[in-house]
Amino acid sequence: MQHVPGDDLLDKLEVAKDFKLKIDSFNIKAIGATFKPHGPVHGTVNGRPVIFAGSNNYLGLTYNKKCIKAAQKAIKKYGTGTTGSRLANGSYNEHVKLERELAKFLNTDSAMVFTTGYMANLGAISYLASPKDVIMLDSHCHSSIYEGAKLSGAEIYLFKHNDPQDLDKKLKRLGPKVKRTLVVVESLYSMLGDFCPLKEMCDVVEENGAYILLDDAHSFGIMGEEGQGLAYILDCQDRVDFITGTFSKSLASIGGFLISRKHDIEPLRSQIKSYMFTASNTPGTIAAARKALKILKKNDKLRDKLWTNSTTVHKALTEMGFKLGARVSPVIAAVMPDTGMAVRSWTKLLSYGVYTNLVIPPGAPKNLNLLRLSMSAQHSKDDCNCIIDA
Ligand code: PMP
Repeated sequence: MQHVPGDDLLDKLEVAKDFKLKIDSFNIKAIGATFKPHGPVHGTVNGRPVIFAGSNNYLGLTYNKKCIKAAQKAIKKYGTGTTGSRLANGSYNEHVKLERELAKFLNTDSAMVFTTGYMANLGAISYLASPKDVIMLDSHCHSSIYEGAKLSGAEIYLFKHNDPQDLDKKLKRLGPKVKRTLVVVESLYSMLGDFCPLKEMCDVVEENGAYILLDDAHSFGIMGEEGQGLAYILDCQDRVDFITGTFSKSLASIGGFLISRKHDIEPLRSQIKSYMFTASNTPGTIAAARKALKILKKNDKLRDKLWTNSTTVHKALTEMGFKLGARVSPVIAAVMPDTGMAVRSWTKLLSYGVYTNLVIPPGAPKNLNLLRLSMSAQHSKDDCNCIIDA
């Protein structure tokens, strides 16, 4: 029988192989580069000394002495792993304390901690919506949001990126179903580094009677008086129904969370599958996140430094003629004309000692080819100059 591509279950392995061959043809090691950090923003990649300019380590707390000490202490006291979920094996004191601290920080009654931010989105979204419901996603939303939406079985619609009018138009088309609709947006979009017009989004959601979940992975810790994020700055904390977030950026650890100021999320501990059926965070990672939260709350200087570094690099690259987002943020994405140019530039930057993120289709929104930088409060003036010179 003649083989029709796509007919066989494992044809996708061929697709994956073709993609890898395409990348390999550029003769670089873009996927699976081996890192050896020796600080929050310095180390080696594939054996070469580099400045990390693509780590999401916004505040650079991964090497903070207090965070390391807290993690070490917790490992010594409670061991290296929890070996099961909180539902099955029970919660450690550290989990409960972190949840209380997060809730206090974000002025909510409770917080649920997940093993990763991906799990928080996947679990929360797939629980909140079901096959008779609707999910409206900003077209630039993260994979964890898409996958959560797909898992929910709900009807999924995309609205134009950061476009409240388009959201409004699409919500209006739903008729009475709008009451069964969850809108999902992000605060700071991770690929292009642009901000959600959250106030306008909340206006549209409220006017139409839908619900809204905000993924605050990228603005948590870096915006707001104490780092409470975009919803705080825009006075929208009481207007969004749910907020998810991650510990893998400003909190310099690993984990995720879900909070709500409008709804009681406590009963969801026995409903959300990605909370119930996966091992909970290790004592060390939780202790590090707790300490990082304590540090970032009090440390405006870190945020100031991050924004100064971001402004410096954004301004210099704009002046050089790079096509960047209009507004300054710690995520600086240069749009490259094609994949070849993006890959060659990424390789060249690495040879100049600057590690950035290479984002090529299908990984980037609108099939763009990007060289993505994320700035850190730990970059020195010299680091910023090296990045600019490179
Ligand atoms: N949401 C967004 C917007 C993200 O960028 C990421 C990770 N890059 C996640 C969720 C997932 O977070 P985690 O790394 O904790 O799984």
